[in-house]
Amino acid sequence: MVFGTGDPNADVMFIGEGPGFHEDKQGVPFVGPAGQLLNTLLGEVGLGREAVYIANVVLCRPPGNRDPLPDEIEACKPRLLEQVRLIDPAVIVTLGNFATRVILDRQVGITRVRGQRFTWQGRTVIPTFHPAAILRGGQGRLMEQSREDFRQVVAAVEESRVSVPQVEEQLGLF
Ligand code: URA
Repeated sequence: MVFGTGDPNADVMFIGEGPGFHEDKQGVPFVGPAGQLLNTLLGEVGLGREAVYIANVVLCRPPGNRDPLPDEIEACKPRLLEQVRLIDPAVIVTLGNFATRVILDRQVGITRVRGQRFTWQGRTVIPTFHPAAILRGGQGRLMEQSREDFRQVVAAVEESRVSVPQVEEQLGLF
């Protein structure tokens, strides 16, 4: 079982699909090639892995790297939602179709919704490509679009940080 990793008080939570070979061996999410690329994208926008929280839709590696099955996703969903509630991030980044569909509870396609902001349970959800898809795509256009999305993520996190004092100011509490 590969649980989450990172700062339990993080403002931003990334949700992937499920552990692959390397994650299964080490018991830590996103440590293989997709994880290296995630680290690069985080680093480029000034976010360290330790500053965010990283989780997956399913906790166990689907055999042979197959996609997680609908009943596996359903079985893991209550645990994922509870994990979100405990970490309590202002911003959630869903990596790829599986995480996006399970969080938004809609059969959306990542290519259409990536980089957009959705409001879900008082949080901002920003879907983006799964890093493994960027690797499969040869890192060209998908990588550029992911970089845009990560900049969007940082903007959303910064906005969430200023919004509380601003609201209090508007209410004349300071
Ligand atoms: N891909 C995922 O979706 N999650 C991981 O932890 C690693 C690769």
